[in-house]
Amino acid sequence: MAKDYYKVLGIDRKATAAEIKKAYRKLARKYHPDVNPGNPDAEARFKEIQEAYRVLSDEEKRKQYDTYGFVPDEEGMPAGGAAGRTGWSGPQQDVRVEFHDAGFGGFGDMSEIFEQFFGGAARARRRRPRPQRGQDHELQVEISFEEAVRGTTVSIPLQRQVVCSACGGSGNVGGKVCPACHGAGVVISTERLKVRIPEGVRDGGKVRVAGKGAPGVNGGTPGDLYVRVKVRPHPFFKREGDTIRTTVPITFTEAYLGAEIEVGTIHGPVRTKVPPGTQSGKTFRLRGKGVRNPKTRAYGDHLYTVQIVVPTVISPAGRDVARRVADLYTEDPRAGLPRGL
Ligand SMILES: [Zn+2]
Repeated sequence: MAKDYYKVLGIDRKATAAEIKKAYRKLARKYHPDVNPGNPDAEARFKEIQEAYRVLSDEEKRKQYDTYGFVPDEEGMPAGGAAGRTGWSGPQQDVRVEFHDAGFGGFGDMSEIFEQFFGGAARARRRRPRPQRGQDHELQVEISFEEAVRGTTVSIPLQRQVVCSACGGSGNVGGKVCPACHGAGVVISTERLKVRIPEGVRDGGKVRVAGKGAPGVNGGTPGDLYVRVKVRPHPFFKREGDTIRTTVPITFTEAYLGAEIEVGTIHGPVRTKVPPGTQSGKTFRLRGKGVRNPKTRAYGDHLYTVQIVVPTVISPAGRDVARRVADLYTEDPRAGLPRGL
């Protein structure tokens, strides 16, 4: 049996065109598949609503429906038998008529609905349309320590709802459900957006991409996209702002006699001198060997802390040497320390 379209839209049989439209919009918003993902009941209901609207919004079809209780589909080929081939031929109450997925009533209706789905606070806007800037979006990308230090380009998949090009947004092609969008009139389009992450970006830093947020409403400008950057830590190089810190092991001999050692920096190895009598834990500065500040474009410093390592292989010869080293201390290194609180 044909459905009661008035009941489907929850309206009176004497409803005006404006009331029908209003009821349809309200229900379409509620049951649209995009607001009910993975809900087959809502999807079925949505199709039913579209079908009812398609008939009742068309003066001619509504008249036929009111008179006969059903309307043949666009091509005059009802899906179910008898009245089929010859097209519309009068009252055939026993003929079951099924409608193909009706799609939206037209692009005008659809764009308005989608504005409301994706544009936020919509009702007030619909009454008094004025340009509204689209919302800003934010998403996160994760990059390596090295990429953050040197700068990189990330490719971000941006999904947008766009009008189906196969059917122009009507949901139908040649009277059949559009195979590209399955009648929705819109498809998801994935755009790969290349975003340049500047040299020196910090963990948690944000890069603004103008105009890539939510689309504007009623001709408003689109919002911006903010790309928040998460930087994976490095096992060796530690970063504090634009400063890089490392720990460099040295031998007792290097510390005592002084030496020229190589210190690894993010810009490559740097040869530097350890002065004679260097204490373990002393920190030295390499100017300009840190991270470039994305704003000032100035390079930070590299601070390295030397740590004297003690040989772990204990040999008789080693014991002799160590005892002789002890003679080098002219005083107790802990002499000045308090012995308690
Ligand atoms: Zn389509």
